[in-house]
Amino acid sequence: VLEYYGVEGTSLDLTPVFAYSDCSLLSHSTEEVPEESYAEQLKSTHGAPVTTYVPFRNGLFLSAAASVALSKGCSVIYYGAHHDDAAGNAYPDCSEEFVNAMNRSVEEGTGGALRIEAPFVRWNKAQIVREGLRLHVPYELTWSCYEGGERPCGKCGTCLDRLRAFEANGVSDPAMK
Ligand SMILES: [Zn+2]
Repeated sequence: VLEYYGVEGTSLDLTPVFAYSDCSLLSHSTEEVPEESYAEQLKSTHGAPVTTYVPFRNGLFLSAAASVALSKGCSVIYYGAHHDDAAGNAYPDCSEEFVNAMNRSVEEGTGGALRIEAPFVRWNKAQIVREGLRLHVPYELTWSCYEGGERPCGKCGTCLDRLRAFEANGVSDPAMK
């Protein structure tokens, strides 16, 4: 995707930070990634995040992005959180409250030089897919699956969310071909 749009990317090794977590998304975890929708998973979490919630990961990403952005003279961080992930407290670090709180921290901690924008924070995945189709987003290059296989599994929460988002727009998910 970076190549497609001709933009620079960077990666961070956060392995030591997450060494103490047993979140099912982490490669050292003893937990299985659940094969059901978020709505089904939330029935048994009693208000707590789902097991694929990586502890404060997005807070870490945004903090790292703020350091990089400030160093490069940028003024805005765009954060792709969306409403499906925040619904029912599945991922509390995707909520509008979280975005507002992090934005306030970033603004305060950078002397007003930097802010966070989260244009999809009130959108569901179907609305995002629709906008992406309009903008000719190369969805065949994108990935949602939590299993880390050669192809999307089609069974984990994020695969199901994505499949339904494409279905809602009357198109098939090119990643599933
Ligand atoms: Zn999957």
